[in-house]
Formats: sequence, structure tokens, C-alpha cells
Amino acid sequence: MPGRQWDAASKAKVVLEGLKGRSESAICKRHRIKPAEYRRWRRQFLSNIARSLEPRRPPSEDVGHLRAGMPKKVWEESAKALRVAQELIEALPIPVFFKARDGKHLGANRAWETYFGVERDSFIGKTVNELFSAAPEVVARHKAADEALWRNPGTRSYELEVPVHDGSFRHTLNYKATFAGADGEIAGLIGAIIDITDRKRVEQRQAIEHRVARVLAESGTVADVMPEVLAAFCETLGWACGARWSLDARAGGFRCEETWRSVDNADIAAFLAESRKSIYQPGQAGFIRRVLGTGEPAWIVDVTAEKNFLRGKEAGKAGLRSAFALPIRLGDQTLGALEFFHGEEQQADEWLLKTGAAIGAQLGHFMARVQAERDLRLSEARFRSLTALSSDWYWEQDEELRLTFMSGRFVERTGIDPAPFIGRRRWERPAPNLTESDWARHKAQLERHEPFFDFEVERVSPDGVSVWLSLCGEPVFEDGKFRGYRGVGTDITDRKRAQAVLRAAYDELTRSNSELQQFAYVASHDLQEPLRMIGSYTQLLERRYGDKLDADAREFMSFIVEGATRMKQLIEDLLAYSRVGTRGKELRPVQAQGALDRALVNLRASIESSGAQITHDLLPEVSADETQLTQLFQNLIGNAIKFRKKDEPPRVHIALRDAGDEWRFSVSDKGIGIEPQYFERIFMVFQRLHTRDEYPGTGIGLAICKKVVDRHRGRIWVESAYGEGSTFHFTLHKIQKGRT
Ligand code: ADP
Repeated sequence: MPGRQWDAASKAKVVLEGLKGRSESAICKRHRIKPAEYRRWRRQFLSNIARSLEPRRPPSEDVGHLRAGMPKKVWEESAKALRVAQELIEALPIPVFFKARDGKHLGANRAWETYFGVERDSFIGKTVNELFSAAPEVVARHKAADEALWRNPGTRSYELEVPVHDGSFRHTLNYKATFAGADGEIAGLIGAIIDITDRKRVEQRQAIEHRVARVLAESGTVADVMPEVLAAFCETLGWACGARWSLDARAGGFRCEETWRSVDNADIAAFLAESRKSIYQPGQAGFIRRVLGTGEPAWIVDVTAEKNFLRGKEAGKAGLRSAFALPIRLGDQTLGALEFFHGEEQQADEWLLKTGAAIGAQLGHFMARVQAERDLRLSEARFRSLTALSSDWYWEQDEELRLTFMSGRFVERTGIDPAPFIGRRRWERPAPNLTESDWARHKAQLERHEPFFDFEVERVSPDGVSVWLSLCGEPVFEDGKFRGYRGVGTDITDRKRAQAVLRAAYDELTRSNSELQQFAYVASHDLQEPLRMIGSYTQLLERRYGDKLDADAREFMSFIVEGATRMKQLIEDLLAYSRVGTRGKELRPVQAQGALDRALVNLRASIESSGAQITHDLLPEVSADETQLTQLFQNLIGNAIKFRKKDEPPRVHIALRDAGDEWRFSVSDKGIGIEPQYFERIFMVFQRLHTRDEYPGTGIGLAICKKVVDRHRGRIWVESAYGEGSTFHFTLHKIQKGRT
């Protein structure tokens, strides 16, 4: 605006901009004025005001004094400017004051009055000592600034925290400028106070938040993060120390986890150490417990006077006064709390509590994230070891059933390169063991999204070796949508080979067994016919030509007949033996007692002729082939009678014992006994320990007993003392409820 005409009011406005804190260069640039001009206006303005504020005098005198030596027009103009300036200053929302060179207050505007809660007229003539009588450090700081100004007139600004009308401390930017009197000497200063508390707090909050955010981003563990967070609060706000508390579920209480302190103070260190040792039970009383219990922040102005603060004595010893605590929250869950201590009394500060709550929520999210990450790592590790332990490799299929992933152990275990399988469906690669319809069934199962187990696939390695895989898989759903399959695989080649060998051996065994059965049957059956011929023709020979033969020939013929008879007996016994396997009936519940009774009936003749005494326990119901059980008893009791001592009638007892899942039957006698080396052999076919002259028999009886017990899946064995008697034991399974 070249050539602009500046009136007094406009000049005053420009100068006031400067008083409010705008820099000289900014003002000059904005209004396109020269610095020298601006300075001149300011000088003028300030000295006008200074004059107007000199202790009140009657207006006439005032005017006379001011007007002295001034042309009327100039006077009128400056009087007008002065009025405007006064009104402006009065209306300014920022506190403005004036003081004389001796430090005595000359006056102030209404904003100053409200700001400090001091009536301005009553304060005229007083000094800063009286304004801040309770805060000597504030007085000292102001005085020092003023001294500097007197020494070096001009302007000066500085920041200072001062107590205001309600006793709270506010951050202020103090702007002071000297002015000269009519004589040109420095007469005093004008001061403007700009309250920068809000700006300061925004800065502090930003500083804390910024530092916390950086710490959270950089550190991995809660234990690393918390001391840094405590430091961010304490260092930014000037608090002495802090601690984090958490709920320790195992100890069933609250525990101090981390601490931080700003100064190397042994008493504070001791206080924090004491805190770290304490565990508090949940409840409403106590500072931290209240915060953790309610999820709300708390403030204590003087911890030494608060009986709800249990560590008051220790805190007092450490020189701590005020405390505040904020909850670490995740939604409506309280995960812990931070507490801070100040060495001086601090009034509850809403702003600080709000800032704390915001940071507390941030920490809550961080802790939840750390926990979630830990849980994830844990479950991944669990999953890894589970799949590694239960299988050889892991695989995944997409929703189109194409293989998308195969863990490295596949190639390790099978020696097959997985590459040709990736991106393909299982049935798109050859598997010699599976037919078209096998694959169709598997495919249908997958299309129904069913899990599958032990699906056996034979693959052929590049060098032509068969590798058998067993696959298990389960469908994967995400938000209810089918996403494919995942599963494990195991190399079962060894098992398959062993199975094949076993099956071949089993087949061979069954074949040779049935051949043997067949052979035994055919042999014993078909041998009887020619034997009968030998017998009858020898007898015929004797009848017709007996008188023509001499004694030797007749004796030889009697040997032939005897041999044929014995052979017949052997063949019959063999037939009976082979029939245990081929003619056996199904096992079903039978009364063992009934079988025993029948055996005793069959043995009646020999019992009577030998004078045998037979006693027995009461026998139970068992699962058996009744005919064979009868035969078992008959053979054992028959032997007990047969192998008696020459001079004693046989005494036989059949005992029963409960042996858990089975019954144990024992047939004991007081007979001739058996030498231990024969305990096994006597159960073999045709094995006998005596000549036919001593004791008749073919040596098949115990072999049949063994075969019968085997067929009943029991055991048979003998205990004996040679010359004293024998006990034959055998076991049979008990009948189980709901099963025969
Ligand atoms: P056998 O009775 O036809 O000789 P077994 O197979 O029944 O055939 O018995 C085999 C052998 O076991 C008998 O020859 C006998 O030496 C011995 N033995 C069997 N039972 C008894 C017993 N109770 N006391 C002594 N020895 C026995």
C-alpha cells in the first residue's frame, strides 16, 4: 500500500501485534513498513501509555502536564491515539501490565486482573514479590529478566511457569519492552503475558505419544517397552519416577513389573525396590488396586497423607508427594496400570489424566498384539511339532484341489521331487495301486469337503522304485467358505513291504497247514483200509494154514497182527488229533461243570477199577466247544488215573482260580510225577515217557489237550515234582458281558 496514510489507531494496532508476540520482521513485511518506522511507532506508543498510566492525577492537571510544550494539533492527535491505545489494551484478551523502573506496578488491564485474581488498583505500587509470594523461584526469574532489561533496554521474552488465580501453574510466554519517559530516560516496562499452556501441553502430549509410538514400534517385548514409556512420561513432564503393575493370575494378585526413575536417588530406588517386592490381592482399597479394579485413572495430591496409599511411609522417605496412575486398557478389560510420582505437590490435572488414558489404550493394544503374536508363535510351534511328530510332511491344496504346498520333508522321505505335483490334482499323476473308480471315489469325497484318513497312494520314483504314501487331509474353511485342503503324509513303504512279506508268509502257512490237515486226514483215513487187509489176511492165514506153520511162523504172525492193531490205534489217534482243527464247533457259553461231569461218566470204568477219588471245585460258565472241553477234562483226568503210583489208589482234584480276564483250571494228582526236562515235550504228538508195557497209550492225549486249549486261545502247562504228583493247568477266557 504505497503512500498509505497511517492514523494513530492503525499505528497502535501494529504495535500491539508486536506486543502479542509477532516478530518485528513479520510485522514490517506484513504492513510494508521499515523497521525504523515500526520502532519509532512503538517508542511513541509506549511512552504515551506510560505517561497515561502515571499515578492518577486530576484530569485537568493530567492534560496540562501532557500538553506542556505541544502544539494544539499534535496534542489532540496524540491524546486521541492514547485513548485508542488504552481502549485496545483494556479490551485485549491477554494480560498486559506496566511497571516502573523501580519494579513497582503502574497498572494492568482487565485480563491481567482475571488471570492472577488480583484487583489491579490495589496492586499499583506493589512488586512481583507480592504477586508470587508463594513461588520464590518465579519471583527470582522475573527479577533477573527485568534486571537484564534495565541493563540492556529494548525487548525481551522468556517462558516461565507461574501460579495463577486458582493456584495452578500455567506455562506463560512473557514479553517485555522498556519505554522511555519524556526526558528520554528508561522509565519502565510494559509486559504482556501470553498463556501457552495449551500449546505446551499439545507439544508435551505429542512428545510423549511420539516417543511411546517409536518405542512400541521398535521393541518386541512388554518388558522392554514399559521402562521406556515410563521414562517418556517422567522426562517430558518432570515427574520423578514410575512403575508398571500387572495382574499376575498365578500369584492371584497385582505385581509391580517394571520401574523407572529420573534421578540417581537411593531413597527412590529403595521405594521402587519395595514396590517390586509387593504383591497386592485384588480389591478396591489401595491406589493401584483401585485403578486396576475400576479401570479409571486416579490422582493423589499427597501420598504421605493418604491412608489409601499403602506405601505412603516409604514414598515420604523417598521425598515423593503426588502420584497419578492410569489404567492400561483393552476395551473394557484392564490389563495393568502405570503409576507416576512427583517430588512436589501437584494438583489433579485433567489434561494429564486424559493424555494418560489415551496412552494407556495404546499400550493395551500393544500388549494384546504382543500376546496375540506369542499365542500365534506358540500355536505355530505346536502345530509344527505335532505335524512333524505324527507324520513325515505337510501339504496344502487350494479350493480347486490343486496342490499348492508340500513341505521339504516330502523329498527327504520319499526321494521324489514334489515339483511335478505342485499345481496339479492328486489324480493327475499316476498311482499304480489306484483304479479309475478308486480315484472317482476319492474325488467325490473331496468335492463333498469331507476329511479323509490313511488314503494310500503308490507313487513310482524316477528310478522305478515304488513309494507308498499314506495321506490324511481335512477341509479348510474361512468365514464359512471352502478354501481347500490341508493335511499330512507319511511314507509307509516299509510298512507296505513288511505287510506284503507277512501276507505271503501267511498265505504260505495257510496253504501248507491245510495241505497238512488234508494229508493227516487222508493218510489216517486211507491207511486204515490196507491196514485192515493186513490184519484180516494174517488172521485168515492163521486160520487156514495155522497147523502147517511152525511155532516161529505163528509167533511172527501174531507180531504182524499186534503191529497192525497198534498202527490202527495210532491212525485213529492221529485222526482224532486232526479233527480238533477241522471238526471243531463254534465257541459258545457252556457250563464247564457239565463238561466235567460227562468226562467222569466216560471214565467211570477206570475210576471204579482203580478206586480213584475225584474231587473238584464248583466250575463256572465258559465260552467253549463243549465236546472238546469234555475231551480235555477226560484226557487230563484219564492220565492222572493212569500214571498213579503202584500201591496207592489215585486221588485227583480239579481246582478253579479266578485269574482276572480268565479262569484257571488245574487238574492235580498224587501220581508218579514228571521230570522237569519233559515238561514241554509231553505236549507233542506221539511223545511218551514210558513203554507200552508199563503204561498203555500212544502219546496223543496231551497233544490233543494242547490243540484244544490253543483253539480256545488259552494256555496249558504242567507243574510236577517227580515221584510226588503232577498238576496240569489250563486257562479259558471268561465270558464278557455283551460278548461271547
Ligand atoms: P499217553 O497217555 O498216551 O502216553 P499223553 O500225551 O496223554 O500220552 O501223555 C504223554 C506222556 O506224558 C505220558 O506218556 C506220560 O509219560 C506223561 N504224563 C501225562 N500225564 C501224566 C501224569 N498225570 N502223571 C505223570 N506223567 C504223565
